[in-house]
Amino acid sequence: MPDHAQYLTPEQEDELRKIANAIVAPGKGILAADESTGTMGKRFAGIGVENTEENRRRYRELLFTADNAVAENISGVILFEETLYQKTKDGTPFVKVLQSKGIIPGIKVDKGVVPLAGSFSESTTQGLDGLSERCAQYKKDGAQFAKWRCVLKIGKDTPSYQAMLENANVLARYASICQQNGLVPIVEPEVLPDGSHSLEEAQYVTEQVLAFQYKALMDHHIFLEGTLLKPNMVTAGQSCTAKYTAEQNAKATVLALSRTVPAAVPGITFLSGGQSEVDASINLNAINSYPGRKPWALSFSFGRALQASVLKAWQGKDENVAAAQKELMRRAKANGDASLGKYTPAGEGAAAAESLFIANHSY
Ligand code: 13P
Repeated sequence: MPDHAQYLTPEQEDELRKIANAIVAPGKGILAADESTGTMGKRFAGIGVENTEENRRRYRELLFTADNAVAENISGVILFEETLYQKTKDGTPFVKVLQSKGIIPGIKVDKGVVPLAGSFSESTTQGLDGLSERCAQYKKDGAQFAKWRCVLKIGKDTPSYQAMLENANVLARYASICQQNGLVPIVEPEVLPDGSHSLEEAQYVTEQVLAFQYKALMDHHIFLEGTLLKPNMVTAGQSCTAKYTAEQNAKATVLALSRTVPAAVPGITFLSGGQSEVDASINLNAINSYPGRKPWALSFSFGRALQASVLKAWQGKDENVAAAQKELMRRAKANGDASLGKYTPAGEGAAAAESLFIANHSY
């Protein structure tokens, strides 16, 4: 007798496994375009564009109608709920546009970060109420995977036991609900880069957070082959004065992951976490070039590091759409190459090297 009831049929497991594997097919990763309305406001403010529903639609149309070759490096796109139901100017649903390119639509299902009372400014993430019904609907409407982001902070007394336990558990509940509705859960416990901590501290905390995470996923009987992990790369704090090489970051990242993430997990798709576009590509490339044991695909699910140059090129103007799409293609190719350990930063412009750090970042 198994010690728990099977919650997925073999067919359901097969479906989830296939989706997860397709997302981390060699040379491919995810475009995280699931910025909430508020976050889009901040991105648009940087280029002087008004945060209206129509401007958000125009911007996402630009992203999703880039040349079909983008699908050589982008396997999936994470959408915000509003975007899942938007259409191109000529009336084609965005979901159809993506599917026609062979890109898998995904959806952010969390309802944002909220304070964790009794902690030192730590947080949990809300959104479990009604999640099963929402997931069932999103699946019908074309989504094949989901994302839920939790945030942990490195400080004198953090991350606390309370925060690590709570965030690991809420991500496990979310993962269970997604899987029962045919969506591959992307599990995202992000350790923020804010602070002056060393690379070694970042590695230690990331290991702890991931150990809590996989204990919780096992406690909830999650089918690991049908999940993806979206962690931070292990890097020193944003205001740490010591400087580390990409090779040192890669070693710390691969060690932390190899000690905590089961080999059953098909892929790890890193967030970019405020790194410049070029740094994110260089570090991803170094991670893939590092000669340690790496039983999972190591790829990307970048937001800022895939879109910063795109936004800058666009400036809200129709006449700049083609130039902006070129920037997306360029970053997608760079990160596709990096996920294979084949990226070189030669020829990258200065804009791509600008820091994208935002203190205490929300999404
Ligand atoms: P960044 O790559 O901008 O960190 O964001 C990725 C993401 O989806 C965070 O939830």
